[in-house]
Amino acid sequence: MALNAFTVDVEEWFHICGAGGLLAPANWDRLPSRVVQTTQALLDTLDACGVRGTFFVLGWVAERHPDLVADIRAGGHEIGAHSFAHHRVYQLSPEAFEADLDRNLTALRAAGVAGVRGYRAPEWSINDRSLWALDVLAGKGFSFDSSMTPLRIIGNPAYPQVPHVRATRHGPLAEFPPLVARRLGQNIPLGGGWGLRLSRPRTVIREIEARNRRGARTALFVHPWEIDVEPPRARLGPAARFVHYAGLDGFRSRLAEVLQAVPLGPMSEAL
Ligand SMILES: [Zn+2]
Repeated sequence: MALNAFTVDVEEWFHICGAGGLLAPANWDRLPSRVVQTTQALLDTLDACGVRGTFFVLGWVAERHPDLVADIRAGGHEIGAHSFAHHRVYQLSPEAFEADLDRNLTALRAAGVAGVRGYRAPEWSINDRSLWALDVLAGKGFSFDSSMTPLRIIGNPAYPQVPHVRATRHGPLAEFPPLVARRLGQNIPLGGGWGLRLSRPRTVIREIEARNRRGARTALFVHPWEIDVEPPRARLGPAARFVHYAGLDGFRSRLAEVLQAVPLGPMSEAL
């Protein structure tokens, strides 16, 4: 049976690309931290469901919470990189991207993790404007990436919906897209984000099973802040508010239903 990838982007509730004001990076250290409790709760859920996954850890978080990184590893999960400072890749120069990636890897190494092989960009921001990032990743020894989404605006609906290999200047790099579904003529995120939170577990399970029957593997993704029982509310515009807060009620138990129903594992194993 096909093994699908379960992934987590380990970040705080305030790591929202492009958010300014109170949520600007200069204020991050003064905002209430929720990442330890919420990631621990997610680890408990995964343990109860017998699922291991890949945790793409933000360097900013690894630097402040090395014990959390150790707990994730103790649960048998794989560690990947999610950048250091949560900038959109297409807004960085290749040099700035590489510097941020180095800082991410340094923070993970300090937390005891060597040989990181997988990367997930903040907000799926490797797209047609930042394909050079794949060269940088392969050059740094990464073997897989999961940063290109078949969605309009943040990605491109024409991108493949199955894991595939991308040629880079430094050799091949596996690319693993998230699960999307066709609704009303458009691709919507079904493997994570608002699409997963607002969907009935049965719908998600059926979609994964249909793909697996065709021999295709797919990926789910969640964030610790999505299962927070008391999520701090940031003041956001209507679109960002929807992306971050729609469908949070009861999400943890809906997620558990999916986790128990489909074969999931770390991304490197699903590849
Ligand atoms: Zn993120």
